Amino acid sequence: MAIRPILELPNPVLRQRAKKIRRIDSELLHLAYDMVDTMQQANGVGLAANQVGELKRLIVIQLPDEEEVRIYINPEILVRDGEREVEEGCLSIPGYRAMIKRSVWIRFRAMDHSEKIVKFKAEDILSQALEHEVDHLNGILYIDHMEEHQKLIPVEPHDEEEDGDNEHEHETGSHPPDSASSTGLWTPGDDPRDTEASLRIK
Ligand code: ZN
Repeated sequence: MAIRPILELPNPVLRQRAKKIRRIDSELLHLAYDMVDTMQQANGVGLAANQVGELKRLIVIQLPDEEEVRIYINPEILVRDGEREVEEGCLSIPGYRAMIKRSVWIRFRAMDHSEKIVKFKAEDILSQALEHEVDHLNGILYIDHMEEHQKLIPVEPHDEEEDGDNEHEHETGSHPPDSASSTGLWTPGDDPRDTEASLRIK
């Protein structure tokens, strides 16, 4: 597995629509595992294939307090409901975050790496992450959801934790906002919740 470079704005691939995946083969899974490595190395919560230059409908997600990784192929948001303000960032727009509106919950469907259909209701940070990553597959970035009065908030350049007992391997959502600079998504005070159906690889 390998770390791939993450494309950043204004790379045009981030604005293109990814294509539906017709076949799940070893090449696709290789890409998925590379995306997992890339996301983890960047301390992100999610990554879409566009972000590594592949126009395929493939996303990976790892919630801050979960060791398992979710791989979703041809993901679809079937239903969205409600509206809430969340703080969001993106690995392709490093150094910034902003307040935007996301759904309160969604119903989601995708295929996992074993070609099994998974379908579930998601809320909190999982629904936020799924909306964010599915947007990527449609060439949409979180900044497109910003209202005019909202501004991009610069994130302090990497604040090192003062104490050294911080295991670098598992950054969690308990970090203060300013150290979330490299995190794909971050929601203040949100308690990421497990949901019924999800793909786990480990
Ligand atoms: Zn993103």
